[in-house]
Amino acid sequence: MRLIFFGPPGAGKGTQAKRLETARGVRQLSTGDMLRAELAAGSKVGLEAKSYMDKGELVPDSVLISMIEKRIAQEDCKGGFILDGFPRTVAQAMALDNMLLKNNTPLSGVIEFKVDEQELFNRVRNRAEQTGGARSDDNEEVLKNRLAVYHKQTAPVLPYYRDREMVTTIDGMQHVDDVARDVDRALGDL
Ligand code: AMP
Repeated sequence: MRLIFFGPPGAGKGTQAKRLETARGVRQLSTGDMLRAELAAGSKVGLEAKSYMDKGELVPDSVLISMIEKRIAQEDCKGGFILDGFPRTVAQAMALDNMLLKNNTPLSGVIEFKVDEQELFNRVRNRAEQTGGARSDDNEEVLKNRLAVYHKQTAPVLPYYRDREMVTTIDGMQHVDDVARDVDRALGDL
């Protein structure tokens, strides 16, 4: 199973992807987590990414595309993966198509988590409180920009997959267990 979890920051993609990782043995590939790990390791990629991440801007496509290409080639992704936070631009979506085509490993589908924006602010505020501000981009000012960037650069990815009839939309405003049930239902259809 090779999936994309799609939705704005705070939509619940990571929570649901982590659940499936345990339940179905597919790898959660969060590009945000990968970039934060690069930064923690002090790598060149991490240092380059930091200035973008701190402002809530997207890290350049070339960096993300090569990072994900290397990652999905690894052994632990052979059983399937969930992309959480990638692709975030149409260029990334096209590059992903090319790499999956080359590997003869097509996508199973795209799950869209639909949420209300005011709710996103509440969620990110709670996440910042719970983690004691562990993420420097979990604050209202940066979140505003992350949402603006989402609308401008990431939302156009959805029609790209809609045209290919690959998208199932889920109400991400429900209780986490109900979202999980809907995800399972959607996967049942795939
Ligand atoms: P996330 O944890 O998914 O919210 O990502 C945190 C930050 O990492 C984003 O605000 C971007 O700066 C960067 N990032 C993560 N994934 C991508 C991507 N696919 N393309 C560009 N930048 C990304």
